[in-house]
Amino acid sequence: PHYLMWFRRDLRIHDNTALAAICEQANAQGAQVSAVFFLTPEQWQAHDTSLVQVDHIARTLPLLAKALQNQLNITLNVHLCPSFTDCVSTLSTLCKDNDISCIMANHEYEGNEIERDEQLTKQLAQTDIDFIRWHDQCILPPQTITTNDDSMYKVFTPFYKKWRHTLEVSNMQMHEAAAVNNKAKLKTSKSSASTIKGIEKLSKETISNYQKTLQDTGLLAHIDMDAQLEHARTAYPAGEDAARQRLSTFIADDIDNYDVSRDVPSLHATSQISAYLTIGAISPRLCYLQASKAQEKLHGNDGDNDDINRWISELAWRDFYRHVLVDRPDLIRHKAYKEETDTKINWSYNQDDFETWCSGRTGVPLIDAAMRCLNATGFMHNRLRMVTAMFLTKDLLIDWRLGERYFMQQLIDGDFASNNGGWQWSASTGTDSAPYFRIMNPFSQGKTHDPEAIFIKTWLPELKGVPANLLHSEDKIRQALAKGGKFADVDYPLPMVEHKAARQLAITEFKKG
Ligand code: FAD
Repeated sequence: PHYLMWFRRDLRIHDNTALAAICEQANAQGAQVSAVFFLTPEQWQAHDTSLVQVDHIARTLPLLAKALQNQLNITLNVHLCPSFTDCVSTLSTLCKDNDISCIMANHEYEGNEIERDEQLTKQLAQTDIDFIRWHDQCILPPQTITTNDDSMYKVFTPFYKKWRHTLEVSNMQMHEAAAVNNKAKLKTSKSSASTIKGIEKLSKETISNYQKTLQDTGLLAHIDMDAQLEHARTAYPAGEDAARQRLSTFIADDIDNYDVSRDVPSLHATSQISAYLTIGAISPRLCYLQASKAQEKLHGNDGDNDDINRWISELAWRDFYRHVLVDRPDLIRHKAYKEETDTKINWSYNQDDFETWCSGRTGVPLIDAAMRCLNATGFMHNRLRMVTAMFLTKDLLIDWRLGERYFMQQLIDGDFASNNGGWQWSASTGTDSAPYFRIMNPFSQGKTHDPEAIFIKTWLPELKGVPANLLHSEDKIRQALAKGGKFADVDYPLPMVEHKAARQLAITEFKKG
């Protein structure tokens, strides 16, 4: 027999549930194993996948192929299949041509991905070929953490309590894949590559064409994509070894200060592991287990530590939003979690305001620094994601879906469930969302989280000479930058809205109806 491992957002060999299962079954049955991955540019475009993220995937594939070959004796074949429909037909052909009797993969929870898997299941229904999927993306699988009446939690805190308790009483094991006794090589079509060099070449060509396609749409005209790619390649070395190294370094050096420093963007004190989690270069269970181990080592068996607990709770947010998505699949079709907000709120679609926000020219220093950082690096700190998202949806009253899309197009860690969850939280339309009247003041957020304006001045060098206390006060900055003001010659706009008035308008809008 010949089995096929289908890699998707799980680009690693360590603790990969489907991979461990296929190796175990192949060894028990004396079966051969091959592996496959599809580059899907039409699908990326339809899902607003950022160029930096697909570049990260492309950089990871040759390393995955090498590790599969050297450690498990499995060849990875990479195919160019523009859409999910193409993937399904290629898989059917591969199965026929290679006598494959079983395909294994890890579950994906988004709409088109589910439809793709259903399409394949339907095609294979007339055959003897099995298509088996495993839950792997979450620390605890969707639908396993439910209320007493078996429904999904609507708020995070009780979900988290149950999630944590379940983990504490369970004995979670890693899924390690064993090498297979293997001679299998897939017979493939022209559009596939199986050598490391071939994979590198096909991936590079595909990414370069994707960049051209994105440029032709003109949607991201003000982004310097080459600069973004250059930064991401340095900041995120590819592969699961790099990801595990990053986790170890964070746990050794930074986790013990996480609760205090996680909200200060200039400190870079968070793990920056999200880009790896998003493409599956590291297992979320490994993140949890390493953090728990550190908890035990540093603080004893009964020890509790606010910093480590806080970090574990962030991993739980990631699980939470995936569980929510499985419970509410309509979210993928741009629906608000709180459905009434879709009819009640008169969102703005003002293109000029939106572009001013995108390009970091709002005149609010913290917002502009955050947006310019995103545009230049493909990453934004969590606190700043909340502040910029609130500014767009409350101060400008622009539909959260526009911001959600813009973030996906830029972020190296862009992930539907977490991004949608974060946007709907900020817009007060989501599960557990910020109450509509609790609107962050972007000036006081700057004062609290960037008191010396270190982050602001890194991204807005034109403000280097302006004292931090002016940058954290709307009145003072207006006076200083206005005609005749002390810094009138600085090339920086006045705040595009008055925060107090904008806040009041937003509250009125949310209150009505
Ligand atoms: P750490 O602080 O080290 O946290 C560890 C891990 O926990 C993260 O890597 C991430 O996987 C998870 N995590 C942390 N905070 C959250 C959260 N609030 N929600 C869900 N998971 C979390 N995260 C993404 O991975 N992809 C996105 O597209 C995304 N979009 C967001 C959009 C908005 C508007 C907001 C407010 C948040 C968004 N987040 C998203 C969550 C969070 O901002 C990032 O996960 C975090 O900044 C990544 O940095 P880190 O790895 O250093 O995080």
